[in-house]
Amino acid sequence: MNSAPAFRPPRVRAEIDLAAVRANVRALRDRATGGAGLMAVVKADAYGHGLLPCARAARLAGADWLGTATPEEALALRAAGDTGPLLAWLWTPGGPWARAVEADIDVSASARWALDEIVAAARATGRTARVHLKADTGLGRNGCQPADWPDLVAAARAAEAEGAVRVTGLWSHFACADEPGHPSIAAQLTAFREALARAERAGLRPEVRHLANSPATLSLPASHFDLVRPGVSVYGLSPAPEIGVPEDFGLRPAMRLSADLANVKRVPGGHGVSYGFGYTTPGPTTLALVPAGYADGVPRHASGRGPVLVAGKLRTVAGRVAMDQFVVDLGGDRAEAGDEAVLFGPGDAGEPTAEDWARAVGTIGYEIVTRVGARVPRVHLNAESDAGAG
Ligand SMILES: *Cc1c(COP(=O)(O)O)cnc(C)c1O
Repeated sequence: MNSAPAFRPPRVRAEIDLAAVRANVRALRDRATGGAGLMAVVKADAYGHGLLPCARAARLAGADWLGTATPEEALALRAAGDTGPLLAWLWTPGGPWARAVEADIDVSASARWALDEIVAAARATGRTARVHLKADTGLGRNGCQPADWPDLVAAARAAEAEGAVRVTGLWSHFACADEPGHPSIAAQLTAFREALARAERAGLRPEVRHLANSPATLSLPASHFDLVRPGVSVYGLSPAPEIGVPEDFGLRPAMRLSADLANVKRVPGGHGVSYGFGYTTPGPTTLALVPAGYADGVPRHASGRGPVLVAGKLRTVAGRVAMDQFVVDLGGDRAEAGDEAVLFGPGDAGEPTAEDWARAVGTIGYEIVTRVGARVPRVHLNAESDAGAG
């Protein structure tokens, strides 16, 4: 595996191993049961990994669909030349429906107001909008409640008859798929089957019915239907420790966040470290300054907790994480300005993982990778296909 970047941007960088992204997509496709396809979720700048390179890698590895939250993310993919099946699901009134319809982006409707705006956009553009109807099967977030579903379905069928829309998808989202055995899982499966039956009785014939996020893709074959819809696992993270570790599924974390030490110095014992003096040197020691802070996505909550690999050993953030920097105490060990500090990576070179950071600060790996700041350059490695597909 290539771990040496061709060039090293200054200060701090997130290296993204696109070979890992491709291999993860292939591993997830292999897990999809019953001939189900795969939608790679690339929302939120591909969970912080870089939208366009990751989308390209996912397509190269055989992702049948891409999924985004916002229409802007989907339009950015089209502007960059992506032409495959693509769904954007998080809309607000007045959204860019017409632009999406013209760009051949599948849109999602969870309510009548959305379907009405889609029909208006279709009429205005003279095209047939491709629509996925979203059912709320229990999550209580987006999606149409069972009581309102017959009305949404009937209106969609009428719009199909008019030629304004084609219902290409029926879908929903899990609340607790990351807690195997949670009673809501079976209840949501039942509710989803009921919503599908209702829609089919009303005459809808979708291309794809889809429900499974990463935990369901990895642990719940009964939820795979026509399409699985993993996000975080595409980037090599396990959705939850309860589901397993990445290696259990042949997944490899794609992001490696590292920085060059900005300073290394000897200080006497009893020296305060960083704002508020949350850490005091226990004796004469060497402090290393890591030039990454909460503006770069290092949680301030990691003060005194976050794990870092410096000078060949795992250390802990000493004192407070500031906006741009934090300190580690090297004890008796030596390092020099310019040496590398690794915050997280795949974990097989002794460095912490994003999951280790999540545990240290009381969050989930999703948030650790997604919050890496906009001023951290993403360096994409291994962009060439190893799939022979060109
Ligand atoms: C983010 C998201 C996914 C992907 O979830 P993961 O747990 O990252 O696999 C799938 N579907 C919807 C609706 C989402 O918002």
